[in-house]
Amino acid sequence: MAKKFVIMITQSKLARWHAVTIAETLLRLKADPTAGLFDAEAKNRLSEYGANELTSIRPPSPVTLFFNQLKNSLVIILIIATVLSGVLGHATEAITIAVIIFFTVVFGFFQEFRAEKALLALRELSSPVASVIREGVEKEIAARFLVPGDIILLKTGDRIPADARLLEAVNLKLEEASLTGESVPVEKHHEQMCGEAAVVGDRRNMVFAGTSVTYGRGRGIVTGTGMKTEFGSIASMLETVKREVTPLQKNLNRVGRQLSFIAFFIILGIVFLGLFRGQPLLEVFIFGIAIAVAVVPEALPAVVTISLAIGVERLAKRHALVRQLPAVETLGSTSIICSDKTGTLTCDQMTVRRIFLGGGKVIDVSGDGYAPQGGFFMGSVPYPVTPQLRLLLQAGALCSDARIVAKGDAWEPKGDPTEAALVVVAGKGGLKKELLDDEYQRIGEVPFSSETKRMTTLHKGETRMTAYGKGAVEVILNSCTQYETDTGIEPLTADIRTAILRHAHEFATDALRVIAASYRPANDLLSAERDMIFLGFFGMIDPPRAEAKEAIERCRAAGIKVMMITGDHPITAEAVAKELNLLEPGKKVVTGPELAAMSDAQLDNIIENISVCARVSPEHKLRIVEILQRRGHIVAMTGDGVNDAPALKKANIGIAMGITGTGVAKEAAAMTLADDNFASIVAAIEEGRIIFTNIKKFLAYLLSSNLAEIGIITTASVMGLPLPFSAAQILYINLVSDGLPALALAVDPKETDIMERSPRKKNQHLFSRSFIALMIFGALWSTVVNIGLYIWAREAGKSLEWGMTLVFASLILFQLLNTYCFRSGHFSTFHLPFANRWLNRAVVWELFLFLCVIYIPTFQTALGTVPLSLLDWAIAVLAAGTIVPVLEVAKWLVRRSEDA
Ligand code: ATP
Repeated sequence: MAKKFVIMITQSKLARWHAVTIAETLLRLKADPTAGLFDAEAKNRLSEYGANELTSIRPPSPVTLFFNQLKNSLVIILIIATVLSGVLGHATEAITIAVIIFFTVVFGFFQEFRAEKALLALRELSSPVASVIREGVEKEIAARFLVPGDIILLKTGDRIPADARLLEAVNLKLEEASLTGESVPVEKHHEQMCGEAAVVGDRRNMVFAGTSVTYGRGRGIVTGTGMKTEFGSIASMLETVKREVTPLQKNLNRVGRQLSFIAFFIILGIVFLGLFRGQPLLEVFIFGIAIAVAVVPEALPAVVTISLAIGVERLAKRHALVRQLPAVETLGSTSIICSDKTGTLTCDQMTVRRIFLGGGKVIDVSGDGYAPQGGFFMGSVPYPVTPQLRLLLQAGALCSDARIVAKGDAWEPKGDPTEAALVVVAGKGGLKKELLDDEYQRIGEVPFSSETKRMTTLHKGETRMTAYGKGAVEVILNSCTQYETDTGIEPLTADIRTAILRHAHEFATDALRVIAASYRPANDLLSAERDMIFLGFFGMIDPPRAEAKEAIERCRAAGIKVMMITGDHPITAEAVAKELNLLEPGKKVVTGPELAAMSDAQLDNIIENISVCARVSPEHKLRIVEILQRRGHIVAMTGDGVNDAPALKKANIGIAMGITGTGVAKEAAAMTLADDNFASIVAAIEEGRIIFTNIKKFLAYLLSSNLAEIGIITTASVMGLPLPFSAAQILYINLVSDGLPALALAVDPKETDIMERSPRKKNQHLFSRSFIALMIFGALWSTVVNIGLYIWAREAGKSLEWGMTLVFASLILFQLLNTYCFRSGHFSTFHLPFANRWLNRAVVWELFLFLCVIYIPTFQTALGTVPLSLLDWAIAVLAAGTIVPVLEVAKWLVRRSEDA
């Protein structure tokens, strides 16, 4: 279990970088603040200082894993049985059980080793990245490779990857609760000097690993990595990768306890009967143990972990990186997906298509993608870059942080695609962002946030200072009192406002994302967002993802609701939703402010009918999750910003965006989408369903097999017959013969209708009616047939060993055939019968082993078997073969009752 930790650090033993000037820090760490380290130097430092990781989270070594197997209570019981048998002179039994222990331990070891490898891969996949400057180039590297002296770049939403002294801080605020317990974000300033004795919480010129940026941006020089960070010094108290018990495992533990309880009484009964009939104590004791092994599904929770871990690997192949095992389980039961629009349902490839200029002109823009080639037209006539248009383009480019870089023949955006589109359109008008940035140096900024839906920057020109703003059209309009026309500045009257909003509405109806721009002469940021001059707006397309439409269709078939939750304009959202076939005719788009005005009861009434929420802020998301959960939904919610973290945590499956998501969002989420694509969420849900169904299959198979064994033994006991199996035979069936085929069921290919079934209900019983029917029918039939066979064999006048071997063979065949029947709860066994290659291989292997057990003398002695003739085999196959038609009938009955 993860420990909760809020630790107040008052003093630290680490170096006092906070009391050192920037120049001195650079000197001591031998670093260049603009070019960063050279790769070769970074490599040297990496070998000197080690990786930037907390050493306490290393995975267990193979040796530890091996010895862990010996701690298993099942293995301990078996070891006691071996020793007892040996001491009392029953060498054959002792050796047989020892061999079985060997099999169990090796099998368990390889499984856990595989699971550990999967978990390790998982850890690596979700390992954090850091933006650094190396050899003069800004790049992203795995945070693990950071070294002291590296220059790191910080922006809103970043997790701080190492301790660093700030070189630059623009409105920088950090949340340091994990380190100091202080929940209010702390302002950071690079110029501030701190006294030597300053406590961690007061070191305003430093940032610390494990904390996160809530606002602003900055640059720092790494002063400490790995265990040599403030976070590292408390790391022994942390467990970064949580090993939680999943709900399914909890459920199984409960079932396990109940079964143990029942088993205890059955064993007690059988042991008493045995003693009563005068059987030797040791024999009865070992037999009791064998039955206990048969009844108690000791290994089940472990096997479930293994299949979940294997599931994690499979999910990663489908672009879904899961951070916690329970997520795999929950994914399968998701009943609603609340998805962002931009980048998830759309491609996040923005291109400005149309421009509205204050005064009423609408201009078309030509050119595709991020190439700065194209021009402006009014109808089919080229439109010149007038001073008014130039000012609008300039505002868009200056008030953006994105850049466009050439990659071969193509152009790629660096930064926010919305801003990149503004930089591109400025390029089409002959305005290069780099030159503009040089000419009008940025001296202040209020960054964009999903709450304010705007961004403002302050620039120093040759003669005066100017503030530029851009953002949602209504927000920008609200801060303007005048507007720019081609003949000069005019007052922004109510009529003009209405006309502007009407134009924005028209843009939005064509699925264009609208970003308005404004400016004003200003000397500081305090006054910059008031009395601005409205310039116009850009309309950019962001095409819906082709695969999203199909994925939404699949959700519909799978009984999963999809809700688009976007910060964008309601009309744009509506237009995109219609293109995606998400908004059913007659349904309305609801906006964040409308949601906020509703009471919980009102929202509760309509929430099921909402498919699109627009102009939503992160706090609305949290409320939506809560209401949906109250209504019994299992909610998957996407998010990328810092403020999305509470909703991501609250959702049953928080999904962070891998490309655009902030470190904080990724940390809060249970799953990260490597490609930000909605279709990957649906693929992950499908995978979750497959994994969960497969777990159910092997659980049902194992439980049914165990029930059959108990059934046969109990019936024989009650009927006063000699026991049909020896202890070694029972151990063989449970620990050798059942294992591999059961595990093969865990990787069974998907059933074709997996995405046509309704999602699992929250408190629904683990097994559906079909599986319960299969388990009970299977166990009963096996009991009846095998007892019948045993009685017949007893009367045939041959040896007891022969009768026992015949029933042993029949039971093993029964169970191997059962694996094929349990591949589906309702499809016929003859539907793609050999589709599971692993199962085919496992069954062939088990048959081969079984032939060895029957025909190789050493095994014969160990397991008390005798060779069977062809006729015996024919009888055993015939008896076991009856299970297929019986379970077919059971499936048919279930199908019929489900249809009724
Ligand atoms: P989603 O929530 O689906 O990802 P979104 O990107 O439109 O959609 P937000 O990022 O919250 O949501 O943006 C909300 C609004 O803020 C946008 O409709 C746009 O008008 C404005 N906006 C978006 N990005 C910027 C930006 N970089 N600078 C200024 N304004 C922006």
